[in-house]
Amino acid sequence: MSHRCRFCSAPLSLSFVDLGTTPLANSNLRSRDDIAGERSFPLAVMVCESCFLVQTTESVPADAIFHDDYAYFSSISPSWVEHARRYAETMTGRFSLGAGSLVVEVASNDGYLLQHFVGAGIPVLGIEPAGNCAREAEARGVPTLVDFFGSNTAERVVREKGQADLAAANNVLAHVPDISDFIAGFKALLKPKGVVTFEFPHLLNLIALTQFDTIYHEHYSYLSLTSVERILARHGLMVFDVEQLPTHGGSLRVFAGHAEAGWSEQPGLRNVRAAETAAHLADRGGYLGFTAKVEKVRDDFLRFLSEAKAEGKTVVGYGAAAKGNTFMNYCRLTDGDIAFVADRSPHKQGRLLPGVHAPIVDPELIRQTRPDYVVILPWNLAREIEQQLGFIRDWDGRFVTAIPQLRTF
Ligand SMILES: [Zn+2]
Repeated sequence: MSHRCRFCSAPLSLSFVDLGTTPLANSNLRSRDDIAGERSFPLAVMVCESCFLVQTTESVPADAIFHDDYAYFSSISPSWVEHARRYAETMTGRFSLGAGSLVVEVASNDGYLLQHFVGAGIPVLGIEPAGNCAREAEARGVPTLVDFFGSNTAERVVREKGQADLAAANNVLAHVPDISDFIAGFKALLKPKGVVTFEFPHLLNLIALTQFDTIYHEHYSYLSLTSVERILARHGLMVFDVEQLPTHGGSLRVFAGHAEAGWSEQPGLRNVRAAETAAHLADRGGYLGFTAKVEKVRDDFLRFLSEAKAEGKTVVGYGAAAKGNTFMNYCRLTDGDIAFVADRSPHKQGRLLPGVHAPIVDPELIRQTRPDYVVILPWNLAREIEQQLGFIRDWDGRFVTAIPQLRTF
């Protein structure tokens, strides 16, 4: 079957990686009764050799993903809330936001970010498709429109609330199937001098650190500065600054405004463009060889598991998030390999992991069952989790991370 680029419609012929057929990474099951009805979808990623947008080849319908039961609440992670607080403080100063401004966040989740603007007396509007997240946001004083974002939603917001001084789209650009209409929405939403910031995991790091577990059906695009600048330019928006962030294993925060507003390019742009050129992200050379690196990560982890089993050691997981589900399903793990995965979120406890079917449990069960190994699945939070679970040292328990390479510590 031939596929075409989501953005420029060129035929796709260069494979990046194929992770097989797996269930949706955020679709935890309520009980074993749901196993029979579990759906799986192909998870293959290709590169457009015309615009260099790296993208999944299949579109899973958005309503299969962001249903009312969507389980991710941003405020569960203290480090993420702190990241949001610093963002609000910095943007308020840099763009002189105040009581007469409007800040809009797209995919505002439970209000983890906008609450900081509310606290400073700055009017806000959240836009969030998941009803349960939106209700949590409203409860903390963040007005939230339950909807997907695109040109239609933007026009409605402008009609009802006016245009925005600042729009934030953090970790959402990759989740959008129609990336072109999404960007068109910001062109309509922003005041003449308005600014939009996009944060997204940087493709450069995904490749360099073999972060293939950040690939899942809900991530339609894997973004570089090169591809994002092209997409924004087509909609009359220009990138004037970029920052490199440590979040999600290495992200970019791109600043853009109306092309006609006369923004001057900041020095950060030159560095990131040079790094992407050096990594061959604008030619096919940058994408070859990724599959072999991914297979090595899988094979090393499976060898660790079989050795642990042979020695009679117990292995459990920590962090029931999308990353871990991609990783475990690509490795074809079952609940015979990982007895359970612990997670602090009460919204997830009691469910079963998609595909793997191991239960999600309260972290207290780690203390009670004293496993030999705890595999930290969200490696980007490894330091935080190592501190939370420091008690496993009491019985000489060890932590394991599989990416970028197998490590026990
Ligand atoms: Zn393309």
